[in-house]
Amino acid sequence: MDLGIKGRTAVVCAASKGLGRGCAFALAREGVSLVISARGGEALEATAAAIRAETGISVTTVQGDVTTEAGRTALFAACPEPDILITNAGGPPQGEFSQFELEDWRRAVEANMLTPIALIRAALPAMQARRFGRILNITSYSVKMPIGRLELSNGARAGLTGALASLARRVAAHNVTINHLLPGPFDTDRVRGNWEVVAKGGGADVAELERRAVAGIPAGRLGTAEEFGAFAAFLCSVHAGFTTGQSILLDGGSYPGTL
Ligand code: NAP
Repeated sequence: MDLGIKGRTAVVCAASKGLGRGCAFALAREGVSLVISARGGEALEATAAAIRAETGISVTTVQGDVTTEAGRTALFAACPEPDILITNAGGPPQGEFSQFELEDWRRAVEANMLTPIALIRAALPAMQARRFGRILNITSYSVKMPIGRLELSNGARAGLTGALASLARRVAAHNVTINHLLPGPFDTDRVRGNWEVVAKGGGADVAELERRAVAGIPAGRLGTAEEFGAFAAFLCSVHAGFTTGQSILLDGGSYPGTL
């Protein structure tokens, strides 16, 4: 299927690894020029080089922290009027409610709620004027299904979802969509890093933790960044203009509800 977005431009935040990288690759395969970001330069340049080598697409890298004003300003200096915006950043740390200070909550809200809002504020006017815009926020299945030790994520991401719910309807007539992709367990550095932390604490090694995680996923496996990216690219396509304000789970059937 031709997604109809060849020649468009996209800003993909936090895209040197994992789910953001999967999205960047998938958009490039559809002929979309990219601006991608991450804090670390090495993996960012390696990803950009790999995308260029495979697709021949123009990829601009912006090294910086997207959760800061300076990081976001640098992104929009590189691409002032993107057609497509994928918001993403690292998730908040795990822990117990009683351990977190208010400052931890402020950081989570800043990174996973206010940062996407700031990015959308910057991108939206040109999208509306052009009558084409696709905004995707990478959030988490924690929005649908609270995760015990990830209360910072549960809260900040649900806040983002609520904050954008009516905006998505307001801009729909301009052919601008705002949707959320809710990853369940995907095979990325973040997930493996979490297992390594748990393994260091004793109890089970990484292989055992992976086996336990997979046992709880009806699909019988972790998701891949590539399939996440392909799904995201479809939501950025001309064919997805009638889908907005939605929170879509990609979780191999893990969420146990009917709806
Ligand atoms: P990942 O494999 O660790 O990759 C994270 C990417 O984001 C890296 O490129 C990282 O590069 C970049 N990044 C992180 N913080 C950044 C910041 N402040 N500014 C700019 N770039 C930043 O993580 P992932 O698994 O793809 O997760 C992506 C998001 O999905 C996270 O918010 C995560 O909580 C959420 N999520 C993931 C899963 C899953 O199963 N993978 C499940 C639920 C939710 P640098 O470190 O160099 O900046």
